[in-house]
Amino acid sequence: MQHVKTAAELRSCVHRSREQGRRIGFVPTMGYLHEGHLSLVKIAKSSADYVVVSIFVNPAQFNDKKDFEAYPIDIARDSELLRTCGADLLFIPTPEMVYGPGFQSWVTVEELSAPWEGAQRPGHFRGVSTVVSILFNLVQADCAVFGEKDFQQLRLIEQMVADLKCNIQIIRGPLVRETDGVAMSSRNVRLSPEARVAARSLSRGLFAAENGFRGGERDSAKLVRTVEAELASSKLIEPQYAAVVAESTLSPLALVTEPARLLVAATVGGVRLLDNVALAV
Ligand code: AMP
Repeated sequence: MQHVKTAAELRSCVHRSREQGRRIGFVPTMGYLHEGHLSLVKIAKSSADYVVVSIFVNPAQFNDKKDFEAYPIDIARDSELLRTCGADLLFIPTPEMVYGPGFQSWVTVEELSAPWEGAQRPGHFRGVSTVVSILFNLVQADCAVFGEKDFQQLRLIEQMVADLKCNIQIIRGPLVRETDGVAMSSRNVRLSPEARVAARSLSRGLFAAENGFRGGERDSAKLVRTVEAELASSKLIEPQYAAVVAESTLSPLALVTEPARLLVAATVGGVRLLDNVALAV
């Protein structure tokens, strides 16, 4: 697996592969990789012949400077993990290259970026959609894989690709969990042992609501209350939102009569965690 830092090196590697008739897959990440990220690389491997993975801790998507500074980094470990799961090229750009001098061209996906994470983290999604379009332009892949773990982000990227006619196929990667149900996240390493135990409440609440849904409950308020009851079980948890939303628009639903997601966000011992489950009708 090759490592490249510049746009010119990246383009020449991708160009060479394309000339050999290979289909290019792309997995953008912020590094500190876990099995969730590696599952996306494996999906990319199964739908493309040459897989590019980027690691870029994007300053523009952090509204909290402390969160940005505390973001874990371990390129040597990430590189080894990527090599073992068959990635072909690791692209590690610098912030100076991504946001060149005088940078002022931002991408905003207006409606999908407004609620939930967008309301909690002003400017976050503007940073995400902008960096993803820059990375798409740099890599020029045929397909890219995004995780359902960040469901709002995934929908935003799908909308951006449709609106801006980006010539790339977006593939959804299922959410990967730890054995105790906690959604894998690079931020989990920042949880204290007590907070790590408390973090189970997010998935426990979602699974309880999902069970209720499977048993025929369609009232969103009741499903949300099931999640909130679990979140209330620990003082370490500060809930931010729990909501049943339409899969396509992310608008709240009073009754689940169309494909929906139950989204939850909470701070656990000072670490912000997200999780969700699908409510398929
Ligand atoms: P990040 O490094 O957090 O920016 O995530 C990079 C990609 O990995 C995004 O598409 C995320 O949705 C995805 N991802 C992160 N955690 C998981 C997980 N537990 N399961 C599946 N995909 C994930």
